[in-house]
Amino acid sequence: MRSKAFDVPHRIVILGAGTGGTLVANRLRRLYQRKEASITVVDQDDRHVYQPGLLFVPFGLTHPEDIVRPRHRQLGGGIDFRQVPIERLDLDGSIVHLADGTSLGYDVLVIATGSRLQPEETDGLTGAGWMERVFTFYSPEGAAALGAALARFERGRLVVNIVDLPIKCPVAPLEFCFLADWYFHERGIRDQVQISFVTPLDGAFTKPVASKALATMLAEKDIELVTEFNTGKVDGANGKLISYDDREVTFDLAVVVPLHGGASYLTSAVGLVDELGFVLTDEHTLQSEARPNVFAIGDAAGVPISKAGSVTHFEGEALVENVRRFLDGKPLDASYDGHANCFIETGFSNALLIDFSYDVEPLQGHYPSSLGLPLLKESHLNHLGKLMFQWFYWHILLPGRQVPGISSAMPRAGKKDLPAPAVEGATKQQVATVDRG
Ligand SMILES: Cc1cc2nc3c(=O)[nH]c(=O)nc-3n(C[C@H](O)[C@H](O)[C@H](O)COP(=O)(O)OP(=O)(O)OC[C@H]3O[C@@H](n4cnc5c(N)ncnc54)[C@H](O)[C@@H]3O)c2cc1C
Repeated sequence: MRSKAFDVPHRIVILGAGTGGTLVANRLRRLYQRKEASITVVDQDDRHVYQPGLLFVPFGLTHPEDIVRPRHRQLGGGIDFRQVPIERLDLDGSIVHLADGTSLGYDVLVIATGSRLQPEETDGLTGAGWMERVFTFYSPEGAAALGAALARFERGRLVVNIVDLPIKCPVAPLEFCFLADWYFHERGIRDQVQISFVTPLDGAFTKPVASKALATMLAEKDIELVTEFNTGKVDGANGKLISYDDREVTFDLAVVVPLHGGASYLTSAVGLVDELGFVLTDEHTLQSEARPNVFAIGDAAGVPISKAGSVTHFEGEALVENVRRFLDGKPLDASYDGHANCFIETGFSNALLIDFSYDVEPLQGHYPSSLGLPLLKESHLNHLGKLMFQWFYWHILLPGRQVPGISSAMPRAGKKDLPAPAVEGATKQQVATVDRG
């Protein structure tokens, strides 16, 4: 590592200018003056998509162009933006090799390249019927094409399927079901459309209290729940999902969330990633297990909590502090607790809110304190919160601004039936709940 004693600025390189890369770059720029650190951010394109907005595109509630902004404009002054694909990493030499033949040396590397959709990994998914009767809303093109197909859909069976976990925002497919219920009601054809939610999980969600509440809501809205279905093949020509254990679910229109994996360049570094391509990362410090000068944030990090923008936001605070400590030669702060929260749109201008962490599952109560938004309960206020989040994302979260009253640690106040904090001295394996969602 270079030393400030020689008046040479630290070299910080951030891979990915999505949610995590952008907010970390902006926070670090505020922390360090230019003479103290150079900050370089690399991304393959200049289109920053507000991904939670993709949920609304198929229902005509927003348009793809309304949720995309130039990436470089989200980065503050004094941050170098390189628009070029990343090709490979040399961890021993602390060098990133880029597709244009150039390279970047670093003292600290932050990996924020998110997760990659892999529809081609499921037999038949991108074959007959792909983008005709089989869609995904997890990309802007997919969401727009699905919107056109939904508008043409008059009757039949709509199937929403998660191929496997982890996926980004594991509640988004459920939200899609709830919004579809609302959408067909609005069009006066709900009684002509069957909606099925087909999941590899043994319930509607990963955690018991939320899973029960969400399964009840699916039943109330007459949405079929098909569990423990591991999709092995999609037969678009005949309208069938086929599981590895030979069960079949028929469909007229399928909305499939494909397998997710880490960015492919990461596998160029031995020992950096797990079998899905996510960075092996200490869940409390966000330091990679492969090298002390490499950190990971957001979807790219293989930590046992949902892949969500809220998680990325809360991780950002801890990660920036640990980059500072690392560069100062100080012990890292191991306080990131896996804090996550998600608004779950339930249709008819209502939403639920869930708030949880590595140790605490989503519970009822209020957030961020007993006077806040209701948890695990449908409310119009939560729907307004979900809509407002887009403004919050561009103006507070990405610029890396501090939000008064909201901290990175999960608040315990306001939650009902909260278990006692983990016993002092317990290992993290003893207290953490493993959640690939
Ligand atoms: C439909 C949908 C709904 C969602 N809803 C919510 C929600 O309601 N709430 C919530 O909290 N989260 C939600 N999310 C999840 C949230 O958007 C992600 O978790 C978050 O954006 C992750 O941030 P990230 O920085 O890790 O990855 P990203 O923001 O995806 O950024 C990764 C970046 O890396 C770049 N990259 C990748 N590979 C390379 C390469 N080889 N070379 C150069 N650049 C590369 C990409 O171009 C991209 O810009 C949703 C996601 C989807 C898809």
